[in-house]
Amino acid sequence: MYEVNEICKNGSPLPLTTDGHLRIVFIGTGSAFAKRRRQSNMLVIQGDHHVLIDCGTQGPLALNDVGLSVLKVRCYHPTHSHADHIGGLEEVALMNRYTPNAEKPDMIILRDYQDLLWSKSLAGGCESCEANQGRPLQLNDFFNILRPQNIEIDGRKFWSYKHGPIELVIMRTRHFPDTAISVDESQWCSGVFINRRAWISGDTMFDEDYPIRFSKMAEVMFHDTQLFFGGVHASYQELNTLPDDVKSKMYLYHYGDNWDKPETWAKGATDFTGEPAKDGFLGWTEQNVAYDFK
Ligand SMILES: [Zn+2]
Repeated sequence: MYEVNEICKNGSPLPLTTDGHLRIVFIGTGSAFAKRRRQSNMLVIQGDHHVLIDCGTQGPLALNDVGLSVLKVRCYHPTHSHADHIGGLEEVALMNRYTPNAEKPDMIILRDYQDLLWSKSLAGGCESCEANQGRPLQLNDFFNILRPQNIEIDGRKFWSYKHGPIELVIMRTRHFPDTAISVDESQWCSGVFINRRAWISGDTMFDEDYPIRFSKMAEVMFHDTQLFFGGVHASYQELNTLPDDVKSKMYLYHYGDNWDKPETWAKGATDFTGEPAKDGFLGWTEQNVAYDFK
């Protein structure tokens, strides 16, 4: 069973611990360029362990919204190299290396993605921060690297990392370029299945096989969406074609700033209203509430 609870009552900071149960907080639920609900980054907390899945350009601000900072969050898991997912990691790296008494945070990342994240994105602002060291800095100068292992679920290959009681099952997704017809033709991008209870699609085009398959195992699913057809995300109208029993477990996130004005994007549609609860979904994913799994 999961329940939705209020956090940060009376302005108190979000605790990075729980009484032992799994808690998921979306510190942002918006699209890459959203201004109203920040970007789709989420904190996973259980017992005395936590992971921030993605830290976009607005990630440090979103942490500040809940009384936290990149110095407080000790473990990061980036899913792919778009700036709404990794644009805040330079701040994470530099703040934790150059703030007195700060310690190196952890990063859960596959070998396949580590070199790409560093060489194409983070190295530009990080590798030459210290002169006269004899070599450029590397990702592991800024983060303790935690490496997921190969696993199989129902005969299919995934990766898994157990961070204390939190298990992240990591799966490749087909996100970009929009011409990719398989994950093998796509740039690195991944989704996560947390403790085999909550499935988060990550950024992805519409691949109905994933939500249909994981709906059999997950208690609740969070799927990224966009409010128009085409491009590199699953559109609302495509997700609306999923079977009712899949939609009835699914919240939608990564939505544009006009999500609550369906007259601007769902007008003229004959098979959906633009209000997810009316269209058979659980609803929009809410920012800065706790999804608590008891
Ligand atoms: Zn993306």
